[in-house]
Amino acid sequence: MTAVARHIALVPAAGSGSRFGAALPKQYTDLAGQPLLRHAIARLASHPSIDRVVVVLSPDDTRFDALDLAGLRPIIEARRCGGDTRAASVLAGLRSLAGQVTPDDWILVHDAARPCLPDSVIDRLVATLADDAVGGIAALPVADTLKRADADARIETTVARSGLWAAQTPQMFRYGVLLDALEHADLDQVTDEAGAVEARGLSPRLVEGDPANLKVTYPRDLQLAAQLLAAMGDVS
Ligand code: C5P
Repeated sequence: MTAVARHIALVPAAGSGSRFGAALPKQYTDLAGQPLLRHAIARLASHPSIDRVVVVLSPDDTRFDALDLAGLRPIIEARRCGGDTRAASVLAGLRSLAGQVTPDDWILVHDAARPCLPDSVIDRLVATLADDAVGGIAALPVADTLKRADADARIETTVARSGLWAAQTPQMFRYGVLLDALEHADLDQVTDEAGAVEARGLSPRLVEGDPANLKVTYPRDLQLAAQLLAAMGDVS
């Protein structure tokens, strides 16, 4: 593997946020005075290991151009090539990079809806995976006992949590590995990049994430995210 592989963050931000239930797409929801997407971009652009931040937008996005990116490193670029699913958006973003990256360059796919990404998670991914041929993901061992529910919200069974991890982002893969995986994937079924890579017979590495790196999925998550940002001292 080349020692000079670059680290390119890819932020799929073309979703409509249906679970979030608001008219505004989730990535543009306000959090501490800034849209969620702006926080996620800022976390990535401010990390010294990140060389570029590529944001994948819906072709009819009308809000990105109004984001105030002043004060952030000028390494952020938008591509209006988002698709019907998150995986389709990521694949379109990867294809838009063809000719500008090498197969060994690293792609860090990060949710627009994770605004509190600590620097330490990027540090661990970059350091742990530096010599890895495939890549890996930020994730946390599951601490709670898991219950599978029946249709009446009664417990059907208890799921052994031993060995279970909850996937976060960034998910960091070699460009060539991730492009191949998504080109062979059923884009309607894939819920994260690692799933597509696994389906190619590869075993992505699990790298310790952080509980602060929560995904804003429901409106109630915003208050916790705001508290975390304040505790991180980051409202940039
Ligand atoms: O809706 P969910 O939270 O799972 O979306 C995860 C990320 O994928 C968000 O950043 C969202 O904007 C993005 N996405 C996308 N294109 C889609 C659907 C989701 O870029 N068609």
